Amino acid sequence: ITIAAVRENAPHERRLALTPEVAKKLKGLGADLLIERGVGERTHVPDALFKDVEVAADAATAIGRADVLLKVQPPTAEEINALREGSVLIGYLAPHADDDRVKSLRDRRITAFAMELLPRTTRAQAMDVLSSQAGMAGYKAVLIAAQVSGKFFPMLTTAAGTIRPSKVLVVGAGVAGLQAIATARRLGAQVEGFDVRPEVKEQIESLGAKFLDLGVSAAGTGGYARELTAEEKAEQQRRLGEHLKNVDVIVTTAAVPGRPAPKIISAAMVAGMKAGSVIVDLAAETGGNCELTRPGETVESGGVSIVGPLNLPSMGAIHASDMYAKNLFNFLSLMIKDGALNLDWEDDLVAGTCLTHGGEIKHPATKSRIE
Ligand code: NAD
Repeated sequence: ITIAAVRENAPHERRLALTPEVAKKLKGLGADLLIERGVGERTHVPDALFKDVEVAADAATAIGRADVLLKVQPPTAEEINALREGSVLIGYLAPHADDDRVKSLRDRRITAFAMELLPRTTRAQAMDVLSSQAGMAGYKAVLIAAQVSGKFFPMLTTAAGTIRPSKVLVVGAGVAGLQAIATARRLGAQVEGFDVRPEVKEQIESLGAKFLDLGVSAAGTGGYARELTAEEKAEQQRRLGEHLKNVDVIVTTAAVPGRPAPKIISAAMVAGMKAGSVIVDLAAETGGNCELTRPGETVESGGVSIVGPLNLPSMGAIHASDMYAKNLFNFLSLMIKDGALNLDWEDDLVAGTCLTHGGEIKHPATKSRIE
């Protein structure tokens, strides 16, 4: 089989779906590799590092010859049209975002795997792009906060006096939040973490941070959070507003699968914060956890800076790509047997990640929305 990767042309996307290391591993499985010329340019990976990999002059050629196309961002209409009927596409496909895209994948009979649909089981961990990329996002969010803040994160004892450490609150302690906590700790801040899932208390504490108890617990199914009731929200808001008056930096990462990001930091809470404080809203892309967040912008309100960064994983494109490509390799390993594609629909990871196949939408929620 031929596995191809092409340049990611979306603005702000510097990641790469296929690294030289993974290309070598795929060759080991018996695959032929094909890249578009300059595929890793934005990630600073020259074509020459892809050993024994054929280079195509343009994307259409690479895509047209691919049995499997590896992508980061969802495909454009041109990319979908260039795919051969029956070929396999693997990447982020944002199935909630664009019905026309799903329909054209269906109509072109593409076997499309949306990595965001991967079931989050123990066996799936090594393929979980949401987790690997969230780690980079949490890390970068803290570095942005440290950059924007006018304060040191660590405590310093200097000839010019003692500097108190910054107080950092991380809201939402999933994969991104835990990496944010770890990163803020490494920079020497005094860190608190908060989540509606009570089981994360131990994880937060194991990173040397404090669990902020707001008296609200909302564990949902499958290890995810559920939406809060109106009363729970009000109680969370009241206690949080009080607490934020003494915080220097907030990093918000809260998400509920398939829902817009929960609004946790209200404009009134921001008004109660000290001037000079910083909020980095990692949920900006899905609407933001702060009422004042504007995706892709930095807003100033009463001296508080609210940063709404987009595509944080792409800011750490080199390591994010290493992890992403390895996740795809581990996923592909499920479906390549003796150098040929062998899709096992009994495998819950293969079936659960499939968005379209054989002219049908396979993901139940997307199917019922569109058809
Ligand atoms: P996520 O990105 O969906 O959400 C981020 C965090 O926001 C979650 O911890 C959630 O509880 C929290 N949150 C939601 N609403 C909130 C609110 N109103 N206030 C405060 N916090 C709120 O989550 P994620 O990081 O993708 O993962 C969540 C869970 O899934 C974790 O327990 C993680 O360990 C687990 N997980 C398992 C696997 C696997 O086994 N393959 C892979 C990834 C994650």
